[in-house]
This record gives sequence, C-alpha cells and structure tokens, in this order.
Amino acid sequence: MTTGGTRRERARDPYALLHGSTAFHVAHYDLDLTYRVRTNRLTGTATLRIRTREILTELRLDLVGLAVTKVQVAGATLARHQHRAGRLVLQLADEVAAETVLTVTVRYGGRPGPIPSPWGPVGWEELEDGVVVASQPTGAPTWFPCNDRPADKATYRTAVTAENPYRVVAHGVLVDRRVRGSSTTWVYEELHPTASYLATVQIGRYAEILLASVPVPQRAVLPAHLVPLARRRLAEHGAMMAAFSTLFGPYPFPSYTVVVTADELEIPLEAQSLSIFGANHLAPTRGDERLIPHELAHQWFGNSVSVASWQHLWLNEGFACYAEWLWSEASGGKSADSLARLWHTRLAGLPQDLVLADPGPAHVFDDRVYKRGALTLHALRGALGDDAFFALVRAWTKEHADLSVTTTEFRGHCAAHATAVGGASLALTVATLLAGWLDSPLLPAPTKRPAGRAR
Ligand SMILES: [Zn+2]
Repeated sequence: MTTGGTRRERARDPYALLHGSTAFHVAHYDLDLTYRVRTNRLTGTATLRIRTREILTELRLDLVGLAVTKVQVAGATLARHQHRAGRLVLQLADEVAAETVLTVTVRYGGRPGPIPSPWGPVGWEELEDGVVVASQPTGAPTWFPCNDRPADKATYRTAVTAENPYRVVAHGVLVDRRVRGSSTTWVYEELHPTASYLATVQIGRYAEILLASVPVPQRAVLPAHLVPLARRRLAEHGAMMAAFSTLFGPYPFPSYTVVVTADELEIPLEAQSLSIFGANHLAPTRGDERLIPHELAHQWFGNSVSVASWQHLWLNEGFACYAEWLWSEASGGKSADSLARLWHTRLAGLPQDLVLADPGPAHVFDDRVYKRGALTLHALRGALGDDAFFALVRAWTKEHADLSVTTTEFRGHCAAHATAVGGASLALTVATLLAGWLDSPLLPAPTKRPAGRAR
C-alpha cells in the first residue's frame, strides 16, 4: 500500500520515523473529544483543514490504536478509506491539484494508550486517576488523526468533555467551559502554529495556582496536596521567566502552565505553552531543579522555533540544556562556564562517535546531543562575546517564531551575525567553530572565554 511518492519521501528523511507526509499540510485541527476517565474510553470527531502541496490521489494520516467509524471529505470526492498499521489512507475518486483546500472529518474512538517507541512509550497514557499526554516524538496519533511531522505546524481548537471532578488542560487558551449535568466541556484555542507532538491534553483532580503574572500568567495545575511544595519549589518562576525573556527575547505565548501529575513520571516533557512534570520532579532531594528551566526554555526553542526534522533536534535540546546553565548562573549557582567545563570533561570520557548535525535517527535523543549542543552554544558565545551572542539568540527566536528551522539555517544566521559584528574573519572563525562542534564526532577543545555572567 506504499505509494512511490511516500517511499521517496521516507528515503529523503530517515528521521521522519515513518510518520507524516510532505504531500499536504494541515493548517487547522478542530478536535471534539469525549473522555471517560473511569473506563478510559475516548470518542472523537476531528476536523482537519488541509492544503495539498502536490497533485495527489490519496491522503495518509497517522492514527494509532483507535477505530475509525466515519470519514468525510469536503473539496474532493472520497472513494474509500482504509485504516491499517497506524495509517488512515483516504483514497480520492479523482486527482486533486496542488494548493487545493480540503476539509477532512474523521469520527473515531476506542481505548487510547501509549505506543512503544525506541525512547519508551509515547502518547496518551492513563494515570492512576487521570490522563497524561506526552507525545515526543511520535505519540500524537494515539489520540487524534494527524500529519505527524514536527514541521507541519497547525492551529487547534480542542474541546474535551470529561466527568466533573476532573480538570482538563490542553495547549492554548481556555476559551469556554460548560458544565452539563455530571460532566464539563473544556474548550481550548491554540492560535500559534503547533507541531503535533506538542499538542496535549492533561486530565486530573487538579487545583490551579498562579505562580507569577508578568509578562504572562504562569500557573501550576496539580493535585491539591502538592500545592505547598510547588509554591516552594517554583517560588522563583517569575524571576526565571524574566531572565529568559531578557536573554532569549519575549516569551512567545500568551501563558505558561506547569502541570504536575500525582503519579511519578520518568521524565518531564514540554508541550505548547505548558510542561508536564511528575510529583517526583518536585522532590527537594533529587536535584531536578534544572528540569524546570529546561522545559520552560523549550517554549522558545522547539515550540515557537521548531525543528523541520528530528535530525535538527540539537537546536531544541542544546538551547534547553544551555538554558539550565544560564539559569544556574543567573540565580547565583554555578556559572555556565564552570558547568560547560564539567560537561566537557564528562563528554570527553564518552565514545566520540556522534555527529551533532546528523546523529542518526536512533541517536537523536542521546544525552550527548543535549550536552554537546549546549557546549556548541557556549563555544559560540565565547567567540562572539555576550552582547553579540545574546543578540544573535534573540534575533533567532524573533525571525523564526512560529516557524521551523534546520541546522543549515542556524549556520547562516550565525554567519550573518558574525559578519555584522566582526567582518569576514569572525564569520570564518564562527563557521570553523560550528563545523568542529556540529560535523565531526571528535570533541573540540574546551572553550576559553572570560568568566563573565550572562546579562
Ligand atoms: Zn528537552
């Protein structure tokens, strides 16, 4: 059932992880979901506004583990649909031209659950008493039909009806909340283009507290018994947001929410305008403080400025990891420079067989991608100086807000800034530096830079 076009597409990008299609773009998802926590039963209607990018006779959406009951297409004639092996294939009666707008409506349902991935289970997952959705990289199709590529960013309206004791949090802004009998419908609107893996629903018996209100409301949504602990552990959230807004540019979304589940989670994860932590990540003795700035930084790096393909993940994780070091520095802890030295020494003791710009699909989430990515940025900062480096970062988040980027674009961005600051010779220095960090498996020598502090 694989078309030649799809085969070519997969051959072009081995990092697509067998998800998504470049043949069309989903501009908007309208998701109408009803969920029963007690029985883990989901029924949904997804309406997708699609624009074709090439002449096509079929559309292939990703949807895993749920049964499709009805499919309708407006803008073309649907001949038949087939749902097999995680792909919902809509066969059209006639060829459809490129740039055609189609509306696809899919009714579906079942008992959603996470799917295995080389990085552990991802997607919709039942908690002891609620739901967590953590989809990176391929879990989005566990709860809605989608074009599951990080570069195919769309706006969303997500309506979820759930039993009354539960609070539902989705990405975007809460625009409506209607109580009907024993259930409530929560409606969230996401106006920022969002990658499918960053779309999310969180359900639990949660309270909500305000952590800070400037420059945008920062909230925590969590079980009531964790509120006092969260108030202590997240006391500096407003200061962290202020520091990052200065270093990285304005926070890109209208709000930020920290969801803390009653359950323990292995790792925290970012979603659009929110992050999900387990109760264990707030524990005072674990040393997980670094994860809070890490996930917040993803709102700039990963969520607003997204990767065009998983190949370029170092651009998300390198910045998020570097943000941990910057916050340590800004909050009176170890300087970024001393953390960079520490991690350089540790990486020097590990196998040097990973190329940051092209780590291979199996190694995109290797911890060396994170730490070497941060070291690359620290080296760039050393070469440019603080003023030019942070100006470069702010220009990066501004020029590529709501868009998707590649490593090549980052190199071009750095070349332009280096030229503006120090002419051709600095541009050459920066290009050589980036080549050493990004293209060779060998670890470059540690950065020599004056021990300044980020402003
Ligand atoms: Zn991360």
